[in-house]
Amino acid sequence: MAHRKPNLPEKVCPVCSRPFTWRKKWERVWDEVKYCSERCRRQRGQAPQDKQE
Ligand SMILES: [Zn+2]
Repeated sequence: MAHRKPNLPEKVCPVCSRPFTWRKKWERVWDEVKYCSERCRRQRGQAPQDKQE
């Protein structure tokens, strides 16, 4: 291993607008990962999905 190649994919969390990097624990679900953390995920999930407008 000569150099570390930061060749990991990245996404931007729609909740906190921060980029986050691929993690080992997401290797199987990376396609479905949308939020940087469980916290953001829940925060997003709190919004009622019903149409209230
Ligand atoms: Zn986030």
